[in-house]
Amino acid sequence: MKITKIHTSIVNAKMRNWVIVRVETDEAGLYGLGEATVEFQTHAVVGAINDLSPLLIGQDPREIERNWQILYRHPFFKGGVITMSAISGIDQALWDIKAKALGVPLYQVLGGLARDKVRMYDHLGGGNSDAVYNSETSESFEEKMKASISAGFTAVKILAVPRSEPLGSAASLKLADELMFAARNAAGPDIDIMIDFHGRTSAAAAIAYAEVLAPYKPFFLEEVVQPDQIEAFARVRDKVSTPLASGERLLTRSEFLPFLKAGLIDVAQPDVCHAGGITELRKIASLCETFGVTMAPHNPLGPIATMVNVHLGLSISNFLIQEVMRSDVPWRGDIVHGVPEIKNGYIHPPTAPGIGVEFDEAEAAKHPYVAVKPTQWYNNDGSVTDW
Ligand SMILES: [Mg+2]
Repeated sequence: MKITKIHTSIVNAKMRNWVIVRVETDEAGLYGLGEATVEFQTHAVVGAINDLSPLLIGQDPREIERNWQILYRHPFFKGGVITMSAISGIDQALWDIKAKALGVPLYQVLGGLARDKVRMYDHLGGGNSDAVYNSETSESFEEKMKASISAGFTAVKILAVPRSEPLGSAASLKLADELMFAARNAAGPDIDIMIDFHGRTSAAAAIAYAEVLAPYKPFFLEEVVQPDQIEAFARVRDKVSTPLASGERLLTRSEFLPFLKAGLIDVAQPDVCHAGGITELRKIASLCETFGVTMAPHNPLGPIATMVNVHLGLSISNFLIQEVMRSDVPWRGDIVHGVPEIKNGYIHPPTAPGIGVEFDEAEAAKHPYVAVKPTQWYNNDGSVTDW
């Protein structure tokens, strides 16, 4: 079996342009799907896929490890989110082909079931844009929480930390307290609430927010500082007893290793569309298992990424919980068919061969590429800050 063609489709889903990768083979009807979405850098990742594709034409798609090594090592320069996302999307498609060729669901070729079902958590939004965040109120968090619970979820993520100056002001700490109070009040004591700091806080501000939020018993705090500030992360770790999570912006095992060796994270959040695909995510999971760290893969992207994560969650022993994005566009189910329903907060093992989804190109064509600018936040004095 040989790879004959690799191509991409772009589907606009509001702030994200999903990049869908399709790898064709010389066997009639056998192809693989993957996702390589990178926010705000769509043309770059499509270009990287186009640059890398010739390296795999003529290769056997089932030799996934060798193909991954070709994509990673032969171009000489390694890493970076664009190249790694391109590799990630292609890699997912190769696993899809392999499982389809064997006639089994993907999790079967990843070692089989390590659990019966995958616990999912809902994302209540907020923080994706300045406008969305600024319109966030305690009341709307309460409504969203109730909607998630009635949909069966037992865990949710919120962004309770507002746009931060270098140090959290008394007013912004009060706002975080009010938002978290509303969320916990609506959730009751049994729902797990994760709080994403989005790397928008300094270490000092993160510690102050963590103190305010701790009485509400968050499940974990995510990206308490920018991912490249490992020393700042250590300062937060030193002062905060709530479990800490990070990793959506880390690529490959190499970037997780310093966090693991320093004992900084309890929960690793690699993104299967950035960190190196299924191949690398399994290696990151094994590395984390060695350090007693659990996995909650980052997944705000499209439905193919969600399904890939479900198969990983089913087969990885140190898996904790899976993020899913439901609040972006209502037509997710129209363009990718086969994603199982979330029942009582869980997804059960899919039965179709491969990743188990079909991509409807005609439906996707109704949502063509749209140039999307990132959220741009500034401090009160006009200096640039993270969102
Ligand atoms: Mg996050």
